[in-house]
Amino acid sequence: MTGLSRRSFLLSSAAAFALPALPAVPAAAVPAIAKPATMMWICGTPGEMDWRAFNAPTAEQAWLQYCDRLGLEVDEFPMGEDCVDRVAAWDGMQPDQIGPADWLAADYGTICERCDCEIYSGSDGRVVSSGEAVCQACMTIAERVEMEPASLVDDLMNDIANEGEAEIREKLVAAREWGDLPADLWARAVAGASDT
Ligand SMILES: [Zn+2]
Repeated sequence: MTGLSRRSFLLSSAAAFALPALPAVPAAAVPAIAKPATMMWICGTPGEMDWRAFNAPTAEQAWLQYCDRLGLEVDEFPMGEDCVDRVAAWDGMQPDQIGPADWLAADYGTICERCDCEIYSGSDGRVVSSGEAVCQACMTIAERVEMEPASLVDDLMNDIANEGEAEIREKLVAAREWGDLPADLWARAVAGASDT
């Protein structure tokens, strides 16, 4: 039975009585006890940034929604195994509530909310305290002090070694970020640069 015809079957008035006789569906598709308010999936093209979130009871139903949304003929675009993924961490949320930070937190790539570049969890993507998903280049000094002070000191150290202490300080002052940089971090970067 295809996903579509099964759906219409379930919607028929006989479904409530006939349901127990249906063949068992995989455990991953239907939780045994507490059913979440939504069951979340993502569909898209492997390797592309065109993935979208859907609430559906099965992978097939999520794929049907995806094809419908994009105006694709399901016959021409049969569901491939790597075109649909289950995201249990999002269960209970609605698709339109899923933002870039949620994609990043679930270990998927997304778009930097400040510069529109592609970012990936664990490499150059960060969810900052305001809840935004941003690339490392877009993080402010204050955000880097809070989230990755060691890497900030390393970068400052390299910048100072290459361009000079006064020049880098001037840039930070001009960017109005000098005040966000704790004196001890700056001192560590300056000391490190003079050792290189
Ligand atoms: Zn960015």
